[in-house]
Amino acid sequence: MDQHVDILIIGQGPAGLSAAIYTARAGMNTLILGCAPKVAGDYAIDNYFGFTETISGRELIDRGRIQAAKFGAEIRCERVLTIHALENGRFEAVTEAGKVCAEAVILATGVSRVRPNIPDLAQFEGKGVSYCVSCDGFFVRGKPVLVVGEGNFAANQALELLQYTPHVTLCTQGKEASMNPDFRHRLEKAGIAIITRTIQALEGEKFLERARLDDGTTLEVAGLFVALGEASSSDFAYTLGLARNGVFLEADCEQRTNVPGVFAAGDCVGRFLQISVAVGEGAIAARSAIDYVKNRRKQP
Ligand SMILES: Cc1cc2nc3c(=O)[nH]c(=O)nc-3n(C[C@H](O)[C@H](O)[C@H](O)COP(=O)(O)OP(=O)(O)OC[C@H]3O[C@@H](n4cnc5c(N)ncnc54)[C@H](O)[C@@H]3O)c2cc1C
Repeated sequence: MDQHVDILIIGQGPAGLSAAIYTARAGMNTLILGCAPKVAGDYAIDNYFGFTETISGRELIDRGRIQAAKFGAEIRCERVLTIHALENGRFEAVTEAGKVCAEAVILATGVSRVRPNIPDLAQFEGKGVSYCVSCDGFFVRGKPVLVVGEGNFAANQALELLQYTPHVTLCTQGKEASMNPDFRHRLEKAGIAIITRTIQALEGEKFLERARLDDGTTLEVAGLFVALGEASSSDFAYTLGLARNGVFLEADCEQRTNVPGVFAAGDCVGRFLQISVAVGEGAIAARSAIDYVKNRRKQP
């Protein structure tokens, strides 16, 4: 499904839901993409303002979801696979179900980067190991590459790599392949093999040349693209050109990132990883995003 919204919020945790309450109340067409956050379980939340009796994470998130929806925000449990800036200043997110175009984006994705446990991975970062197909795919033109990951995100990265090279293999690093049937079909049609072995070593003189698997075989590879789990704020930072501090996004006191129209709030900014902070930052990000969209509308 292709959809156009004023404000796309990625993340259905305290930061994203809080932002949506403000943007939707301000009359912005608001879409939240993301599924239940980690905290939405049977965890006792004792330190959130106004709740004198312990509330469970699940109930707090449910309440936030109901409140955001009450003001008109649309909420879907749908993962964003990648996001790009368009020439017209808008943003296009590719999700598991289609595309969403937005005037402004609020990233509220929490912290979730999953790094594979491969020895020497860090040694080859920037020398063949990459976290961003659209940044580094160009450097492996026509060469054999591996994508490490098991889900829809990895499948999408593997398919994107076909723009640069036909020699793409997906390695699940010992996990069960969990991409949806549509992605599985597209991988098959494109001739992208899925191997479920574990990479045990990376080798190369200066740049990555080989990956050694747990069955003793070796694959000649010039590139290894990490795409475990789901896309994280770091992955979105790569494609959007966002400034980062390690795994965290940089945002100013108005929750603006260095890219106009992109805002970040909550754990993905990495200040004080608490619900109250995420809720506050979500509100500020919403105000900044509302101002941004209104200003854009004024421009001829
Ligand atoms: C078990 C547990 C107990 C905790 N207890 C407390 C406590 O008692 N008090 C307290 O203040 N804090 C507590 N915390 C910390 C608190 O939960 C976090 O600080 C808070 O949830 C951060 O909110 P957030 O919205 O920034 O991110 P999160 O709550 O992590 O939400 C991230 C959202 O982003 C979505 N997302 C990520 N990637 C994608 C993608 N590619 N596409 C679409 N959506 C995506 C996820 O699905 C999720 O909806 C606890 C955390 C945990 C895990």
